[in-house]
Amino acid sequence: MGQLNTSMKSAIVHYHEIALKGGNRPWFIARLVRNLRALTAELGVTRVRALMGRIKLELDPTAEWETLAEQLRLVFGIANFAQAGHVLGVDLDKVADAVLADLGDRQPGSFRVSARRADKRYPLTSPQIEREVGGRIKQAKGWTVNLSAPDLTVHLEMLTDEVYYSFGKQRGAGGLPSGVSGRVVCLLSGGIDSPVAAYRMMKRGCQVHFIHFHSYPILSKASQDKVREIARLFTRSQLRSRLTMVAFGEIQRQVVLTVPPPLRVIIYRRLMLRIADRLAHNTRARAVVTGEVVGQVASQTLENLAVINAVTRLPVLRPLVGHDKNEITDEARSIGTYPISIIPDQDCCQLFTPKHPATRATVVETEAAEAALPIDEIVESAIAEALVEHLNFPAKRP
Ligand code: ATP
Ligand code: MG
Repeated sequence: MGQLNTSMKSAIVHYHEIALKGGNRPWFIARLVRNLRALTAELGVTRVRALMGRIKLELDPTAEWETLAEQLRLVFGIANFAQAGHVLGVDLDKVADAVLADLGDRQPGSFRVSARRADKRYPLTSPQIEREVGGRIKQAKGWTVNLSAPDLTVHLEMLTDEVYYSFGKQRGAGGLPSGVSGRVVCLLSGGIDSPVAAYRMMKRGCQVHFIHFHSYPILSKASQDKVREIARLFTRSQLRSRLTMVAFGEIQRQVVLTVPPPLRVIIYRRLMLRIADRLAHNTRARAVVTGEVVGQVASQTLENLAVINAVTRLPVLRPLVGHDKNEITDEARSIGTYPISIIPDQDCCQLFTPKHPATRATVVETEAAEAALPIDEIVESAIAEALVEHLNFPAKRP
């Protein structure tokens, strides 16, 4: 489609009817409208408003449809969307004329018309409208009608005194509008799993704050660059992100001095979680998210996850807990984080990591191994020295 077809100056967005049912619905829709306004502000969208069960975006002539569509695919809470033309009144002859004028040089093998009435007072039923308009298109173009698997579907949205039409619909990201489910913090490494875990929670309407533990200056800054890139990508969905960089190299050095090798990884995780717990409280986040998966590595046994959980009263959410690596990798590819995740870096957990971690740690032995560490001091100073980065999309927005 490329440049905007000049007579199709709108986009119609449909949200998930079922997901948005219930008492929160008006609030959810208002949030989606607000998110859309902010995320499309620089893409030639002049107006966004809720309109009888759908959302209408008005486009100015500078709008590039492909660019806009790419952004719309990243917005949570959208079931599908399409570029749309508009006819004032509900005269089906006029509708068919406008559709025919905008069909351009399309040559589908078959087509159908699919009508939806937002206002059920309209005298014809949806199938009657489809037959009327479909008949006129068939007469003008000579195309074959195929109701079950057409090459082209002409969608009609019959509102009270206007009609929107579009050709095909694109699938949206689904989920719930960003922000409706409250705030969580996510432990974001530069690996494949944790970005997918963060994405899952964003998709469920959570505002996700990212926390990254790095070992600079002992190791390079590569892992920080990667998580910043991932956070930047996700900010195109959640409007604003907070990325907290916590220096972890010195902490690991301290752990190595006193903790026997098998328990080190668990104690690193417990320290990460304690720091995340504090950062969550500071920003009123209600849960901690990680990319852990049962059995994926030795440190992620059920026993060890329980020992890790014991340091926080916040729920620890692990959206990938039951997934195979290849499923997670496929998802990382489809959401666009995979190419960033596979950039080589020096993860803080490769530093000082023993070959044979304990697979069945207990709280008692872990607490004993931690006894020599000044835990509170470590947590305090990590938080005091953490650096917070704020990301916005579009970037210019304050
Ligand atoms: P990932 O691919 O997400 O790094 P992984 O399979 O490598 O996961 P681990 O390295 O054992 O698993 O880490 C388990 C989880 O702990 C990660 O998914 C992430 O949530 C958190 N985590 C690990 N390292 C870091 C880090 N450097 N900064 C922030 N979180 C981390
Ligand atoms: Mg990792």
